[in-house]
Parts: sequence; structure tokens; C-alpha cells
Amino acid sequence: MSKVMIIGAGGVGGVVTHKCAQLPEVFTDIILASRTESKCKAIAAQIDRNIRTAQVDADNVPELVTLLKKESPELVINVALPYQDLTIMDACLEAGVHYMDTANYEPLDTAKFEYKWQWAYQEKFKQAGLTALLGSGFDPGATNVFTAYLAKHYFDEIHELDIIDVNGGDHGYPFATNFNPEINIREVTAECRHWENGGFIETPAMSKKASFTCPEDVGTFNIYRMYHEELESLVINYPTIRRAQFWMSFSESYLTHLEVLGNVGMTGIEPIDYDGKKIVPIQFLKALLPDPSTLGPRTQGRTCIGVVAKGIKDGRERIMYCYNICDHQACYAEVQSQAISYTTGVPAMIGAKQMLQKQWLAPGVWNVEQFDPDPFMADMNQYGLPWKVVELTDFDLDH
Ligand code: NDP
Repeated sequence: MSKVMIIGAGGVGGVVTHKCAQLPEVFTDIILASRTESKCKAIAAQIDRNIRTAQVDADNVPELVTLLKKESPELVINVALPYQDLTIMDACLEAGVHYMDTANYEPLDTAKFEYKWQWAYQEKFKQAGLTALLGSGFDPGATNVFTAYLAKHYFDEIHELDIIDVNGGDHGYPFATNFNPEINIREVTAECRHWENGGFIETPAMSKKASFTCPEDVGTFNIYRMYHEELESLVINYPTIRRAQFWMSFSESYLTHLEVLGNVGMTGIEPIDYDGKKIVPIQFLKALLPDPSTLGPRTQGRTCIGVVAKGIKDGRERIMYCYNICDHQACYAEVQSQAISYTTGVPAMIGAKQMLQKQWLAPGVWNVEQFDPDPFMADMNQYGLPWKVVELTDFDLDH
């Protein structure tokens, strides 16, 4: 018996539930809990297997503990919002349940994208004999595992790392975000940080642009350097890395909208007074934008997310690129979701599978690259995110 509780019934929660349901031999019993139970029931109704649902406010530790003690799952898959990470970790400790998520904890009032709050739980999880697996989505998640896989099989030392996230899909709206708008916009408007020669260097958001041609005719895209949380753990776990950068593609339309929204204050995270009420501008904006979980039927095209590593093997310099390409419409046909939620939800299921099968289980708090990448990589090929590794003769995003 492997009972799992998924918390969060958004775009990613839907995919995780579908994918866990496809493996009844691993996930024998699935409970989907979220703030709005009707959303859990709508997801459960899409699936040809009994998925139980529950209502829970994941900001409330006693409420979570009561539910966890009642259900006693082995593992919680947290795909609610980053704001809930610490309350869910606290509840897991109290109820004796393993924990995993796909995004680092974020305080509501500052966009930080730092692991320090969750890493501080290391001793507590160790003493409780419980595992907390952090960041098992695509980026972070698969990108960390790609790095670990390249480090294990292709390099003695990695010196440079470029993580490149291209979404070549089009949903037809002038402006919409592919995952939770509030988190997406906080991430994109935050100062850029990249790792160079032993420290993080700050540059203004979106100030560095390059062009990247994806393999397999996905296309050529403008990509922008930005900070992404996996850089923080990767440079610690691979100390030979001299430079690490994260890049994401954005369309001109997306950037123009974002600039205007930013200029008029709509992306702010500080509450403002409106008509006697406190309103957080970005939360109001979220209410106006299309719900990412509704983009599936209308999104066409492919994503291409991967890692380029430069380094040495047996004294020789080499450049390796590990990537996955995912088709939005194929994802929709399989689990009624676009590829951004799919590429996050599948690695979440795979991380959970490693934990339940005890391949990735060790008391403490871990980032995914700290475990053996091989079983995770094998499962990506098997469960919907096939990847390739190719050797590049040349790679330079600095021109
Ligand atoms: P959505 O906004 O679509 O879904 C979030 C869900 O969490 C909603 O069902 C929401 O409930 C629920 N929720 C929010 N607050 C609470 C609460 N207090 N108690 C219980 N449930 C709550 O987001 P996504 O599905 O797009 O993203 C989910 C997570 O995945 C996020 O943390 C995001 O950062 C992460 N992510 C990670 C990626 C990666 O590659 N690593 C990529 C994309 C996303 P309600 O329906 O009531 O609002």
C-alpha cells in the first residue's frame, strides 16, 4: 500500500493526479486535497479510477495535521503555492509523513526565490526520520537531474552551466501566463542573478537577451537571462561550476504587456488601499487573467527545456546538451493540460515514485540532484518526458 496525498488542485495538481493514477501499482491510494474541493472533484471526474478528495486550507497547520492524521498517507506531494511550503512541512513533521514539492518557499511580501527557509528544516526532518524532497518539477526538477546525469556520465568537472527554457507554444491570448500568474510574474520581474566566479551577480530584470535555436525544428527564440531557484542548489552541489545562468524565452507581446503592467503598478506585491480595502495589485491582476489550467485546449506548439554543460572529461573539453521537447497538444490529449503544467507534473509524479519505491529516501531535506539521477531519467523516458543528450561542437550565448 502506498497512499499519497496531493495538495493543490490547479494546473500542476491536475497533471500529478492523472499521472499518479496511471501507476496503480505504485500509487495504490490517492487523495487530492485543496482549498476549493470542487476543483479536486472536477479533476477526479476526469480520471477513470477512484480519487478521493478533501478540503483543506494549507496555510493552517492544525487543519493539515488533522487531515494527515485521519488519512495517514506515506507522502504529501505539495503542488499548492510556494507560500504553503513551510506550513505543509510543519504538518508533515507533526503527522510523520514524507514531503515533496516543486517550488521553493516564498514569503508573501518579498519575492526571494531562496531555499534558506526550507534548508533550515534539515535537522528536524533528519531527527524525525522523514525525507523532504525539494523542487521536483521541471525547472527546478528535471533540469537539476539533467545536470546530475551529465555530471555523472559525461564530465569529471562541469565549469559552465546554461539552463534554457523555451516555450514555443501559443495560446492565442494577447497576454496569459502558463502557470500561476502571481508566481510567474514575481519570478520574471525579480532582479536577475547569475553565478560567476564564486558569487551571484545582480543585473536588472530582462537586461540580457540572446537568441537560441532549439533542436528538432522547434524554432529560434529570443531568450532572456533571469534568476531561477535551481541555480542556488546546483552551484553548491557542483562547486566546480564557474558560471551558471538560467534563460527563458518570452514573446514580444508578453514582454510589452508586462512592461506596461509594471509601469502602471499592476505587478506590485505590496498591498495598496482601494476604496477602504487592502488590495495586492498582482493578485487583482491574477483575477483578470486567464486561468492557466484553461489554456490546454488552445495551446499549440512545443516546449524545449534543457541544460548545456561545458567542462572536462579525461582532460578534454566538451559541451553536452541534455533536453526534452514536449508538445502542448499531445499533453492535452493525454491529461487535459498544456505542456507547462505537464512538464512540471510528470517530474513531480516521478520524484514521488522514487520516494515511495525507497530509491530516493534519506532522512533530511534534499534537492533532487543530491540523489542518483539514473532511475529518475529512466522514468522520464517511460512516463512522457523523453530526453536526449547530444554533444555540441560550439556554444556561446554571449555574442
Ligand atoms: P495554480 O494556481 O493553478 O494552482 C494552485 C492550487 O493550489 C490551486 O488549486 C489553489 O486553490 C491551491 N491553493 C492555493 N492556496 C492554497 C491553500 N492555502 N490551501 C490549499 N490549497 C491552496 O498553480 P499551478 O498549478 O500552476 O502551480 C502549482 C505549483 O507548481 C506552484 O507552486 C508553482 O510555483 C509550481 N510550479 C513549478 C514549476 C517547476 O517546473 N518546478 C513550473 C510551474 C509551476 P484554489 O483553486 O482554491 O485557488
